Amino acid sequence: MSRIDPEFASEIKKYGAKDFSACFNCGNCTAVCGLTDKSVNFPRIFLRSGILGLKDDILQSREIWLCYACGECSETCPRQAGPGDYMAALRRYAIASYEPTGLTKLIFKSNPVFILFTIFLSVMLGFFLFTLKPDHEVSRWLFTVIPYAVIHNMGLVIFSITGISMAWGLITMYLKLSKTVVKSEPGKSNFVNAWREVVKELGTMNRYQTCDKEDDSYWKNKPAAIQPWFVHWSIMWGFLGLLLATVLDFILKDPATAIWWPSRILGTVAGLLLVYGTSLSITYRFKKVTKTYRETRLADWMFLLFLWVAGITGFWLEISVAFGANYLLNHIVLLIHTIISMELVLLFGFSKFAHAIYRPLALFFYFRESQQKN
Ligand code: SF4
Ligand code: SF4
Repeated sequence: MSRIDPEFASEIKKYGAKDFSACFNCGNCTAVCGLTDKSVNFPRIFLRSGILGLKDDILQSREIWLCYACGECSETCPRQAGPGDYMAALRRYAIASYEPTGLTKLIFKSNPVFILFTIFLSVMLGFFLFTLKPDHEVSRWLFTVIPYAVIHNMGLVIFSITGISMAWGLITMYLKLSKTVVKSEPGKSNFVNAWREVVKELGTMNRYQTCDKEDDSYWKNKPAAIQPWFVHWSIMWGFLGLLLATVLDFILKDPATAIWWPSRILGTVAGLLLVYGTSLSITYRFKKVTKTYRETRLADWMFLLFLWVAGITGFWLEISVAFGANYLLNHIVLLIHTIISMELVLLFGFSKFAHAIYRPLALFFYFRESQQKN
């Protein structure tokens, strides 16, 4: 039985929910949502859970991750309860609750804490990078101020805490979602098929494509290449492609600096996708094209900006390497690129970015259960 938390309604507002208690349960939001169906009923049901303070129901739900934040439900709500913002706030709340250190709670609730934490990480990563080049002139000077061992070990501690907290968050979510799984009949549920469906969804964004299809939708007759699902797709695959290219570069070393090398071609294509997706997403937010883009939290702005800067500086470095340019400015750009890229990886489990692992897991549970019902 789910425990009632009387503070939940006020708590969730700190994560970006609007006046969701204004909801009078009409069901318009659920009727208009293209992703809800007989087996997954949202967002209305979660507004009820939130008003009643049933936070365990929320933390054990896969449905909050099935919402793609298109904002259509918020456009149609007669009470301005902001069901779309509320669903996004639930996801932030869940990320913060699964993460064990409590840092994510502070980051999501307080902009100054988020800024300070980001600056602290940048400085620490910058110092840590100098420990990888101990013979550099700047490194030698730095180690006279702060000993090499202190910087190096602090860097390792930060990386370890981040890794452990990410794994902890994922296991916590898995255990919570497992509690609501209906026991399957033998042969009805297929682990491999469910994951295949997840990969298909990530590859095509089929479910996202069904969002916001009302006749009055801003996106109704817009080309697919500028629609939110494709922007999301570009950012996600751009980032994953760059991650893979970086790992291949690291393993393959020298040949990877040649522009025609497969890992470089992958990096170039992935970088283009990332810059394309983030540029459009930032533009939509500046122009506030739809309700979804009207209110962006600082953490989301910074996340997008980091991705964009990582993409642009990556291209700068690729061109510099191709032309053999060895200027001081290029070294500074390399430092910025490396810090931002590592910061994105370190912030993974402590930010909205975590949805990149939580959503596939929730989709897995969803597809597995769908198979059992069919
Ligand atoms: S449309 Fe608004 S008022 Fe109606 S159920 Fe949804 S959130 Fe509540
Ligand atoms: S934001 Fe879009 S996907 Fe999410 S609940 Fe509302 S209508 Fe559905």
